[in-house]
Amino acid sequence: MFRILITDNIGHAGLTLLEAAADVQYEVVKLPGAEKLLQIIGDYDAVITRSGTPLTAPVFEAAGRLRVAGRAGVGLDNIDIDAATRHGVLVMNTPEANTLAATELTLALMLALCRNLPRANASLKKGEWTRGKFMGVQLHGKTLGVIGLGRIGSRVATRCQAFGMKVMAYDPYIAEEAAERIHVRLVSSLEELLREADLITVHTPLTDETRWMIGAKEIGLMKEGVRLITSARGGIMDEKALLDGLSAKKIAGIAMDVYGKEPPKGELIQQLLSRDEVVVTPHIGANTWEAQRDVAVQVVQQVIEALRGENFRNVVNLPFPEGVDYRSLAPYMELAEKMGSLQMQMIRGRINRVEVEFRGEDVEAHGKPLTVALLKGILSPILSEDVNYVNAPHLADQRGIHVAQTRHPAAEDYSNVILCRVVSTKETRLIGGALFLHKIPRIVLLDDYRIDALPSGPALILSNRDIPGVIGKVGTLLGEKKINIAEWQMGRNEPGGMAVSYINIDTPASEAVLQELRALSPIVDVRQVKL
Ligand code: NAD
Repeated sequence: MFRILITDNIGHAGLTLLEAAADVQYEVVKLPGAEKLLQIIGDYDAVITRSGTPLTAPVFEAAGRLRVAGRAGVGLDNIDIDAATRHGVLVMNTPEANTLAATELTLALMLALCRNLPRANASLKKGEWTRGKFMGVQLHGKTLGVIGLGRIGSRVATRCQAFGMKVMAYDPYIAEEAAERIHVRLVSSLEELLREADLITVHTPLTDETRWMIGAKEIGLMKEGVRLITSARGGIMDEKALLDGLSAKKIAGIAMDVYGKEPPKGELIQQLLSRDEVVVTPHIGANTWEAQRDVAVQVVQQVIEALRGENFRNVVNLPFPEGVDYRSLAPYMELAEKMGSLQMQMIRGRINRVEVEFRGEDVEAHGKPLTVALLKGILSPILSEDVNYVNAPHLADQRGIHVAQTRHPAAEDYSNVILCRVVSTKETRLIGGALFLHKIPRIVLLDDYRIDALPSGPALILSNRDIPGVIGKVGTLLGEKKINIAEWQMGRNEPGGMAVSYINIDTPASEAVLQELRALSPIVDVRQVKL
């Protein structure tokens, strides 16, 4: 039974989902306060919050069994993500739930701006009938410049096409095909967009790169009479430069839902807000009933799926790429983890470096999560604390293990293969792994030897001189000790040279048996592993 703590108001639809889940128990403790939260958090596998409950480092320290922290909404300012990561807690939010609400508000702002709706509305309500004052511009035939063609930007783009607008976009981080698919012209420089667009709308996150992205210089490049819409985040457009642009008649109008400081305060912003050419709303992009319902449903679904290990959507501290199909990736994750564990059980000395090579389309596309799975496999046998997909890279880094990845599109013998070389203070070992029938993990390379071994259960790994009689001697000894051999895989570099055996056994061998094996004359090395 998974226990989930709800600390803020979440919509009824979310609670209904929790009630329907047979493997979940939940409790609502609204805004518990720091002290109370510290007392109770240890009893839960997951916590679902909004912005009202800070999840701080001490909370994660006290949260013994906590695995997931879900934020109903987007902002994560109240969650100490580093602390969560250190304690192996997944942090997730629900960024898609308000995509449509924010998209539609952008369209509403655009239309309101072009047709002077707020002023016309206020004027008629005052009893005036001054139609001539509210001459507007049409969207049809205009060029829209979208900065940031993500979830919201792309939806704004397709809706504006329906109005007959030509749409261009600047987004250096998306694939050209993504823009082509929605018939948007992707330009390679912001400058090109600024020079050509009649209306410009920004849909990027606020990052170091996008902070003050639209300032005096950028406005200077824009067309005379440009209209701007800002509904992403305050801080992307420089409000002083916007005011100057309006005063200089360079900018014909601005529609704003977000501000550098919220609520907006100060003389400058008041001057901007009071201008006739400026249409404003108080950060209401996500404010629809549907968005609020979807936020609750999504956060509950995501948290339950993550607890069950079925899917990890919108996890901000997990190295899975957006939209990864976890089910198809899972067998590779298992393979990588087993390879890591095998390496750790075989290697002697302190590990300095892990080099992972991905050959083949399926694995090279998921290098990051597979490397994390490999590190989890390496560290789990040696660390007492829980190692998971979230904290494995952090723990490896803490232990001074340098990790390098390389990718190659094609594999020679297997359509997809993962190679892992571990360098320690004493030796370097190489293991290769592949999937049989797309789901069964196999070890296909052990140092210089090609094999085809099943990494499951206890196994003996022998290295021996390739002379007649080895199989007989080892088989007899194991038989005498009542150790049943399940599978025996051999690899050798050349006849009469060295050979390696991977022997799956049904029950582990005792230290005494291992000693006897080591004493057999052709045997050079014996290691026992358990996967
Ligand atoms: P998203 O992550 O899906 O898309 C963001 C896009 O911006 C990505 O395609 C990314 O490649 C691009 N980008 C990043 N840096 C860039 C740069 N320097 N130049 C150009 N493009 C860049 O995000 P989203 O869900 O579409 O949200 C977009 C924005 O809208 C976010 O800032 C979000 O906080 C905001 N938002 C506001 C409201 C509101 O209430 N007004 C509601 C929801 C979202």
